[in-house]
Amino acid sequence: MSIELSAQDRLREAGIRVTTPRLIIFQYLIDNRTHPTCDRIYNDLKDANPSLSLATVYNVTEKLAEEKLVTTIVSPDGERHYDSVIDFHGHFYCDTCGSIFDFKCKPDRLPDCLKGAVVKSVSYMARGFCPECALHVK
Ligand SMILES: [Zn+2]
Ligand SMILES: [Zn+2]
Repeated sequence: MSIELSAQDRLREAGIRVTTPRLIIFQYLIDNRTHPTCDRIYNDLKDANPSLSLATVYNVTEKLAEEKLVTTIVSPDGERHYDSVIDFHGHFYCDTCGSIFDFKCKPDRLPDCLKGAVVKSVSYMARGFCPECALHVK
């Protein structure tokens, strides 16, 4: 088990310039493992950071994803969500409340029919009703 690096260390390690917006947005994603969208990140951070704009949030999350510091998940409604957990895991999407939960799983071995293909990413998404919402569906 490695010691968790701070947002600042991880940005430095990735070789990208440490700027205030990158730091606060990345730290926010590390602290909030709820797969927020850019709108959500912006709304949660804007009061404490009045100079932050939604455009900056879009730029920073894109940069973090490009550097593989965060992963991007596109939910069934087409919204992009960001995740600071970059180890492979599955996502469960609740059709009722829109929550996205993590679950542990391993990527399957790719089938033989993909031999020779260039696989750039593998994702595992389940959807349905979360335990809370499932209580009200019957
Ligand atoms: Zn739900
Ligand atoms: Zn996740």
